Amino acid sequence: MSSGFRLTLLICALLSWSAPAVGFAQGGSQALTLTPAFVEAGSPELIRVEAPPSAQLEGEWLGRKLQFFRSRDGRAWFALAGVDVEAPVGPSDLKVSVRLAGGEVRELSRTVEIHPAHYRTEALNVPPKFVQPGPEALKEIEAQRLLKARVFGASAPQPEWTGNFRAPVAAQPTDSFGVRRMFNGKLASIHTGMDFRAHMGTVVRAANSGTVVLARPLYYEGNCVIIDHGLGLFTLSMHFSRIDVKEGQHVVQGQPLGLSGATGRVTGPHLHWAVRWQGANLDPAKLLRLNLGQAR
Ligand SMILES: [Zn+2]
Repeated sequence: MSSGFRLTLLICALLSWSAPAVGFAQGGSQALTLTPAFVEAGSPELIRVEAPPSAQLEGEWLGRKLQFFRSRDGRAWFALAGVDVEAPVGPSDLKVSVRLAGGEVRELSRTVEIHPAHYRTEALNVPPKFVQPGPEALKEIEAQRLLKARVFGASAPQPEWTGNFRAPVAAQPTDSFGVRRMFNGKLASIHTGMDFRAHMGTVVRAANSGTVVLARPLYYEGNCVIIDHGLGLFTLSMHFSRIDVKEGQHVVQGQPLGLSGATGRVTGPHLHWAVRWQGANLDPAKLLRLNLGQAR
């Protein structure tokens, strides 16, 4: 074999190894994009992957499994994910692998820098039973913790939402997500939702379509409604004066869930609205700003 022929073989081998598959043009970083591109602790992220419809996608980020679905126009794959408010800042590995119809597997992994979000600290006063619950209350809280773990442990295998999420009430939102709260000068906790200044009895609506997976009174949350939007994404509404939906009921975007109130651990009437994805607490204000129309 001449050296010239061997060189040609080598070049062909390299070309076939790096040549893009049909319908999977650019490869590399262009095939995997995040919106918003500037990633902060607490931020929801829409992950877009260019891959053919026949491909199978798997992914993992910050110890959570990414579940992809095809976009409405069929041109790309998406996963709606996010970074927990308490996630460590710095570089993180976002791993995505694409198995093409022919069996070839492509790794589209990249390093994503997580930037700190700067949240305030505030002091609040609530009735003592919410800071130092008695033995009966502790039993109730523990049973409800298990109930919530069960609720969050199962989610629809397809996205049930369509288009952008909309604010659940016609009331002034507050910049309250991520705030470190001191209750009665003792207990510190991170506020993992967004409070709306909703007067007693304001209609609270489904921010997007999904299934009601919890609709009942809880110790801290008061009258609480949790909606499963599929693929591990949930929205939670708390402190209702009245609940108008039932567990297991399918709801569409804008459908009334109940009336706002002041039940549970509160200092007054308001709506506490929260977003969770696979146990990560995400900033609801950022979810409301996310343009999801390109995905579904
Ligand atoms: Zn709140």
